[in-house]
Amino acid sequence: MSQLVLASNNAGKLIELSALLAPLGVELVPQGKLGIPSAEEPYPSFLENALTKARHAARASGLPALSDDSGICVDALSGAPGIYSAHYAEMAGAGKGDDDNNRYLVSQLQGETNRRASYACLIVAVRHAEDPLPLIAEGRWEGEVVDETRGAGGFGYDPYFLIPALGKTVAELSKEEKAALSHRGQAVRLLLDRLPDWLSR
Ligand code: IMP
Repeated sequence: MSQLVLASNNAGKLIELSALLAPLGVELVPQGKLGIPSAEEPYPSFLENALTKARHAARASGLPALSDDSGICVDALSGAPGIYSAHYAEMAGAGKGDDDNNRYLVSQLQGETNRRASYACLIVAVRHAEDPLPLIAEGRWEGEVVDETRGAGGFGYDPYFLIPALGKTVAELSKEEKAALSHRGQAVRLLLDRLPDWLSR
């Protein structure tokens, strides 16, 4: 089984990505388990930050590395919180973590009728820190932000992210349903075809 260092310590991402990559015989090792500290994420786009995180984990571990930079982009907030999704409430001094992020997002949308938003996921893999040919895959998932929490599955913004065609929030979907439709599932499937050959070279 080949190992890829996951340039993240987010438990939700580790669970979802491990399940999606298991059929390829790839084991994801979270960077924290190797004592690798988180990288700075100084750039304005998911892509740039994903690439930086993957290179950082590959440099520190000497192993191929994969990163997932993802978040929710809300139309009425000009794409915010975007790359700041994990720290949205904290940056506003409104608490920390998923519950506070959701509370803060709902407060920012009070009185707003345009609820459209998208989940975005950029996955980048590098074979070594200076890899000139990173694998890059992107997924998007359209939805709407609702005011009341619904469901107990998933993580992050899932209890407030409604998929109108299903009439359910993502937290009301099974793991399998989420993987089949999600931004992360889409990005991983784009990666799957190319990963075995790319890793062997
Ligand atoms: P990152 O670790 O900087 O990429 O931050 C990702 C953040 O985006 C997470 O902490 C969540 O707040 C949010 N996010 C990403 N993917 C999902 C998802 O599948 N469901 C809910 N929230 C997500």
